Formats: sequence, structure tokens, C-alpha cells
Amino acid sequence: MNGRQSAPQRICLLGATGSIGRSTLDVIARHPQRFEVSVLTACSNVDEMARLCRIHRPELAVMADANAGGLLAKAIADIPETEVMVGDKAIAQAAAMSDIDIVVAGIVGSVGLAPCLAAVQAGKRVLLANKEPLVVAGELLMAEARRCGADLLPIDSEHNGIFQLLPADYTPGLQSSGVERLTLTASGGPFRRRDPGTFATITPQEACRHPNWSMGEKISVDSASMMNKGLEVIEAARFFGIEADRVDVVVHPQSLVHALVQYRDGSMLAQMGNPDMRTPIAHALAWPQRIEAGVKALDLVAVGQLDFEAPDEARFPCLALARQALASGQAATAALNGANEMAVAAFLRGELRFDRLATVIEQTLAAMDHAVASGLEALIAHEREAKRQASVFIAEWSR
Ligand code: NDP
Ligand code: MG
Repeated sequence: MNGRQSAPQRICLLGATGSIGRSTLDVIARHPQRFEVSVLTACSNVDEMARLCRIHRPELAVMADANAGGLLAKAIADIPETEVMVGDKAIAQAAAMSDIDIVVAGIVGSVGLAPCLAAVQAGKRVLLANKEPLVVAGELLMAEARRCGADLLPIDSEHNGIFQLLPADYTPGLQSSGVERLTLTASGGPFRRRDPGTFATITPQEACRHPNWSMGEKISVDSASMMNKGLEVIEAARFFGIEADRVDVVVHPQSLVHALVQYRDGSMLAQMGNPDMRTPIAHALAWPQRIEAGVKALDLVAVGQLDFEAPDEARFPCLALARQALASGQAATAALNGANEMAVAAFLRGELRFDRLATVIEQTLAAMDHAVASGLEALIAHEREAKRQASVFIAEWSR
């Protein structure tokens, strides 16, 4: 064994102040011999970032917001070992730093695309929670990972489950692996049984109260509208290189089965566990080894029963919108993502009704021509245009 293997692996945590950031730091703290926090990044939450710097003493702390960066530098002026930098470019540079071994992508939104790409192109092990970059430019990101020899590992729980269930020699295309279908489970969110006639009055607070998972606001709203599952179908198709019509969604309210893989011989394998993001994070941090994650084992007798039902696409139109966009190609999914980010932000500000999230996304997709070039710049520009279009529709609805 050489010296490098026994030294702790150095981690760059993007989105350190968020929900994925918190779960990642919890797992890392359980294995100080194995992992070391080298870089922390956030956007504007100075107090939380200062608290994390005091605990973890990273070499570098980066804030996307320049004003917040100035405040952080003052707040931790007594910690000489931590350098503070600011801006999106500095975040992407940090993710590609030569002494970093693992990058955990826990930023919310497509703004995480540039640092993900930088980490992949630098050949890092990249743990991907941040699903929006795959929705905007997944084919490119996957191709770059292959070209640059990066280990891109999914930590979105369903995709991590599928990754665990696939054969070790799995290659996209499936023919040789005997895999027939992939299934993502969905909790159904907080409104699975709510009268759709009352969807217009749903408040941000109600939408963010997820029955099984504790997550950031944006993904909580996505879960409530089931757009999260739509984004995840796109994520699965891109990540595992499988046709969209082989990716199924099943509602499973207990969120204990996270994913299933159907094999040609009739076997259906399921990945199960308590709904706690520390499991997929620990799995991908140590892969192919297994480490303790602080998560209790499932007690099947206490659970007693597992329920499954078909998703109600009339109640949750976002799921069908995502499938339509996926069928149209990468530009359409980039537009879908941009429109959704704008609509969710407007809903959280109290400027758009919950039942109009899907309307704004549908209007935006219909207003645009998705037959555009598929290069990175074109996709980013297409998403930007979708955000502009969506904000026009949002303004009309809020009048
Ligand atoms: P949170 O909202 O809890 O955290 C988001 C993080 O991103 C924060 O650290 C935030 O910093 C940072 N951030 C926000 N905007 C920017 C920006 N413009 N530039 C740089 N950093 C920014 O989100 P989650 O942790 O819930 O989710 C993160 C990603 O992981 C999402 O893509 C989500 O879909 C995915 N995911 C999350 C799961 C979960 O359980 N939470 C499960 C599966 C996937 P600040 O605090 O300073 O604003
Ligand atoms: Mg998920």
C-alpha cells in the first residue's frame, strides 16, 4: 500500500450549508482517518459557513455571493488556515484543484453545472446530488466523465439504489447486462391524497413539509409537484444511458424501497433502507467499500407493510411534462429545468399559485423552438431563454 492510500481523502463540498452538505459532513465526521474537509462552498449563508469553518478548518471557503464572502472573511479572520474566496469562477476552480480527491456536488439548481463539469474534467470522484446539471446537459456531462476518467457516482437516493443494483460490469445500452427496466420509487409527496380542487391555495410552508425526507426548499417543492420525479426520470435515462420508456415510476408512500431493477430472467432486485441521505452519501464516498453511516438498519417486522401504487399523472402534470421534454431532447429538458426553477422560486416568494407551476412550464416549453444546437453553450443559452420566457408568464399570472 502506498502512502497516498493511507492519507485521508481530501474533500471539496459544494453546497456545504445545505441539506446534502449537512448529511455529508455528518458521514465525514464519523471517519476522520479516511476523509478530510479541504474546501467548503456556499452562496450567501455567512453564519452557517462561519460555524462550519470553525469546526472543520478547511483550507478554502468560497461564497458565490461577493458581499457574503467579505462578511465571511471578517467573521473568520481569527482562523488563519482558511482562505476565503468569492464568486462562481472560484467555486468551479476549487472543484478542480489538484489536491482534491472527491467533490460532493450539493449545490441546488443548474448553477451547479459549471463546478460539476470542472470536477469531472479534472478527473475527480464526483458524488452527484445536484440533479439539475444532468437535466440541462446530462449527455455532455456523462461523455466528459468517460473521456476524463472521472468516477461520477449518483447520490440521489433512487439513482444510488439503481447503481447498487446494477452488475459491476454494467455499461449503458443494457443488452449484455440482462437489465430490462429501472424503477424509481416516489413518496407521492405531501399532496398525494389532498383534494386537487384545493391545490390553488397550497402555501410554500405546506409544500415544504415532506412526509419522509428533510430537504432544501426547492427539492421539497419539486417533490410536492412531483416534478422531482420527472427530473429524476431524465436523470436516470441520462446517467444509465437507458431509453426513457424503460424507466418506470411507482408511488411508494413509505420511502423504504428506493429503486428496483428488473432483469431479463424475471428477477426484480430492490434497494431498501431508511430514508436518510447519509446512506447513499456513505456508499459513494467509500465505494466499492462499505462504511458506517449513522443510519439505523430497517426493522422489517416493525415496518410490516410496503405499499405501491401508480402515479396519478392527472393530479401531478409535471411528471408527464418531464417525459415529453425528455422525448424531445436535451434542449427541451434544459428549458424544462429553467422554467421549473423560475416557477418554484416565484411560488416560494408567494408570487405564483401551486397549481400554476405546471402551467408556466407547459407554456414555456410550447413557446420555444427546441431544435437548437446541442453544445454546452447552446444548452446554457437555451435554459437562460426559458428562464426569461417563464418569468414573462409568471408576471402575467401574478397580475
Ligand atoms: P439546500 O437548499 O438545502 O442547499 C443548497 C446549497 O447550495 C446551499 O449550500 C446553498 O448555499 C448553495 N447554493 C444555493 N445557490 C447557490 C449559488 N447560486 N451558487 C453556489 N451555491 C449555491 O438544497 P439541498 O441540499 O436539499 O439540495 C441540493 C441538491 O441536491 C439539489 O439539486 C437537490 O435536488 C439534490 N438532492 C437533494 C436531496 C436532499 O435530501 N436534500 C436528495 C436528493 C437530491 P446558501 O446556504 O449559502 O444559500
Ligand atoms: Mg431522489
